Amino acid sequence: MVEAVVGANWGDEGKGKITDMLSEKADIIVRFQGGANAGHTIVNNYGKFALHTLPSGVFYSHTTSVIANGVAVNIPVIINEIRSLTDRGVPEPKIMVSNRAQIVMPYHILFDEYEEERLGKNSFGSTKSGIAPFYSDKYAKTGFQISELFDEELLSKKVVSTCEKKNVLLEHLYHKPLLDPDELLKTLHEYRDMIEPYVGDVSLFLHNAIKEGKTILLEGQLGTLKDPDHGIYPMVTSSPTLAGYGAIGAGIPPYEIKKVVTVCKAYSSAVGAGAFVSEIFGDEADELRRRGGDGGEYGATTGRPRRMGWFDCVASKYGCRLQGTTDVAFTVLDVLGYLDEIPVCVAYEIDGEETTEFPVTAKLEKAKPVIKKLPGWKTDIRGIKKYEDLPENCRKYIEFVESQLGYPITMVSNGPAREDIIYR
Ligand code: GDP
Repeated sequence: MVEAVVGANWGDEGKGKITDMLSEKADIIVRFQGGANAGHTIVNNYGKFALHTLPSGVFYSHTTSVIANGVAVNIPVIINEIRSLTDRGVPEPKIMVSNRAQIVMPYHILFDEYEEERLGKNSFGSTKSGIAPFYSDKYAKTGFQISELFDEELLSKKVVSTCEKKNVLLEHLYHKPLLDPDELLKTLHEYRDMIEPYVGDVSLFLHNAIKEGKTILLEGQLGTLKDPDHGIYPMVTSSPTLAGYGAIGAGIPPYEIKKVVTVCKAYSSAVGAGAFVSEIFGDEADELRRRGGDGGEYGATTGRPRRMGWFDCVASKYGCRLQGTTDVAFTVLDVLGYLDEIPVCVAYEIDGEETTEFPVTAKLEKAKPVIKKLPGWKTDIRGIKKYEDLPENCRKYIEFVESQLGYPITMVSNGPAREDIIYR
């Protein structure tokens, strides 16, 4: 049985917590796209952790954590992440990295920085983890697969031709120091030695696991609105964030994905540039940011303050539809307990017309939120275990959102810990 856990919005919906929770009953957890550019924050009995590349199942000793072919693999980052867990008492996780995954090269990170610098005020707000240059090279067929680290002849030739090409841009477009092929080759030898113990044939491993009836979780990074095809292009990420891509990014048949858990946060937040219709500013935003998540809404990778907004029914309905949602996990609801009234964006007004269908980017830029206010519940709902025990206005908020989304909210998260979950 394969299940996907994915985001409906801009990311940071709390997928890490939901995956960590569902991992208790899973055998294998797979990261299928993205790289170290976003992070999941997880709170469990070992402490509080920010994961960037490792799947959120690494804390259980009964699971295998898989980094599949679709992921941008930053080898030193993975190795440091493994070390940061074991240093804090987490048992050595079982990890497999796909031999077909590609490597984030040191120059991808440099090009990411240089391009953002060149764009100046028109920059994307990249986390400068090298993700866009990495995927550009992958699809231009000039990337390095992990398997190539083990073919010395191929590797040394490819390093020379790569440096030749990159150096033209470094010299003439960016006016920055050039790459030295010998130095790059040396770095790649170090990468090879670091990653060797973990490399395997992931799609074969998953194929056998499916045949044996194992439970596999596919863990998505970011959310629908950052998908390069269906999101707010060009302010998107560079690999597909949809559950459907889980099949490709993990190398399994699409019909094996039986359940899609789409995570939606009870309010909105976003990082990076791009239209954000229900965005709020000033004191109202500062208060929600300060109270949000677990210790404030600040990026897990960059620490930068997230942009804040009210729940956006239009974006979230679209987000759930594109994921192929079977279940919605509605998270961080406890944070809204301070509000007398809770504003919700129920439609967009574009050129004088109202719509509840998410528009293309050019129209999105012109959209104004149509706000409806729902009564607050003004209590702390943390610790509540049963749906019936939630305050009436809180249940009404959930049910209103569910009616707008058109997908069943089967889980409500009322705190950052594993056990803070209400099943409906
Ligand atoms: P992800 O990238 O989708 O996994 O999301 P992040 O980890 O960036 O953001 C979620 C944040 O909210 C983390 O700090 C979590 O510990 C926290 N969190 C998750 N679920 C809940 C919840 O129900 N209530 C509260 N207060 N915090 C939560």
